[in-house]
This record gives sequence, C-alpha cells and structure tokens, in this order.
Amino acid sequence: MTFRTRFAPSPTGPLHLGHAYSALLAHDLAMARGGTFLLRIEDIDTARARPAWEAQIYDDLAWLGIQWSAPVMRQSDRLPAYRDALRRLWDLGLIYPCHCNRRDIEAAATAPQEGAGPMIGPDGIVYPGICRPALPAQGTMPADGVAALRLDMARAVKSVAAGDLTFHETGAGPEGQTGPVAVAPDALVTDVGDVVLARRDMGTSYHLSVVVDDAAQGITDVVRGHDLFEATQIHVVLQALLGLPRPGYCHHRLIRDDSGKRLAKRDDARAIAAYRAQGASPHDIRRMVGL
Ligand code: GLU
Repeated sequence: MTFRTRFAPSPTGPLHLGHAYSALLAHDLAMARGGTFLLRIEDIDTARARPAWEAQIYDDLAWLGIQWSAPVMRQSDRLPAYRDALRRLWDLGLIYPCHCNRRDIEAAATAPQEGAGPMIGPDGIVYPGICRPALPAQGTMPADGVAALRLDMARAVKSVAAGDLTFHETGAGPEGQTGPVAVAPDALVTDVGDVVLARRDMGTSYHLSVVVDDAAQGITDVVRGHDLFEATQIHVVLQALLGLPRPGYCHHRLIRDDSGKRLAKRDDARAIAAYRAQGASPHDIRRMVGL
C-alpha cells in the first residue's frame, strides 16, 4: 500500500515548533516513500477555532516548504459522517446518553475513596458510570445537542476479538513501545473507561472524528506526537467496532521548551510566525527541531 499520511492541526492558535516538527517529519516520510501527504483541519471545537488561525496554518506550512495534496479535509464539513458512525454504535447498543457535568463526575469519582484522587485516563477522569444504563440504550438516538454520548467500554471490548486490538507502532511510545502493541481489554475498561464520543456542544469528539477521518482519507500511517500514544488504544477499539482499516502509528518525540515543558498553543514565543517575523528561514526551523 502506498504510504499516505496527514497533518491534522486544530486552528485554535498559532502553529509552533512542535507542529513544525510533526508536519515536516510526516511530509519528509511521505516524500521519501513516494507517498502522499494530506492536510486535515480539526475544527470541531467551533468555540475556539478561528478562520484567521486556519489561514495562518496554510501560510506557515507553505513557507516551511510543505506541499499537501488537495482537497484539504475540514472536520466542520464532516458532521453527517460522524453522526452515521454514532448511529452504528447506537444500533449496536454500545453508546449511551450522558447528562453529567464536570462537577458531577468529579464528585462521584472522588467520593468512595476519600482523599485518594480519581483515576485519570487519556481523556481525564475515568467516568464513574453515573449515566451508564444496566441494559443497552434502546429507541432512537438522542438528537444533536440533547446529551453527550459515551462509549460503554465494557460492552465494547466484549464485542471485539482481543486479536483486533493490536496496532503497529513504527515510531515509539513514551516508554519506548515499538512494533506490535497489544491493547489490553481490561485496561481499556479500568484505565480509560466510558469516553465521550459526542460532546453535547459539538455532536462529535476528537476520538470519533479522527478515526472516521483517517479511514475516509485512506491514511496508512499516522504520524503524531507521543502525547497521543495513550489515546491510540481508544482509536483502535473504535476502528474494530466500526470495521475500519487500521493505519500504522508513528508517534514521535515532543519539542520542549528550555525548562523541558512541551510546547502548548499559548507558547506564542515559539510560534512559527514569530520566528518568521524575526527573519528565520525554513532551514533554521528544521535545525531548531533537530531535522
Ligand atoms: N488535532 C490534533 C492536535 O492538534 C492532532 C490529532 C492527530 O494527529 O491525531 O493535537
């Protein structure tokens, strides 16, 4: 299969050195293998996404010498595809409506073990199951905006074969994991739990969208930072449930600031635009990120 990868930034702030590294690495790999490099704008968080940031992404990438194949996929155009995937999971009895707010979850997650902190998974506090129905939810799926929809992880892992939960790591996880990585069904239930697949205010979530879109874009190799290594187990279970092909994953090191902290969107000082304004060249950026 020809190598096909993508860079998938969220237009919620300036691209910084960490993004430059990720995009250049994915682009270099695609070019070295005679493959394809695609761009996807992850703008489902409409409260934070801004057209100006999206325009800056195109401009910074082009300046870095990165060319992407058309068309650019924009997640805000893809809500019907996410809804279809949710409906399939609903029909399988694997998702349920949740009306909890953050405070309900924190209170329920801390209550039983006074003093002990709640269990934290890749998506924050592991959901304590307040709205989880004893039997699969029935009837029609709630309309958009009525409730969040959560995956019933225990039911989900029961409905897929354990052999379906392995992914191939071509980079390395934060602890050096590489090669075939088997996701443990029990750990998915206890350490990850019932993740939100559709936020009430968005009608989807990062996890659902990324899985549906990687399949729609025919991605063979996902290149992204270590910070998303733990989330990959959620993506793998969703691929198994939805019958979607599984790409290989190349998780790469993160670019850190001088104090060792990973760069965040608010690190405007490391924004590519800021380096450009100071007269840096694309070659300087490559050198700064160790490429
Ligand atoms: N949109 C995500 C981010 O900006 C990247 C998602 C991915 O590569 O899977 O962190």
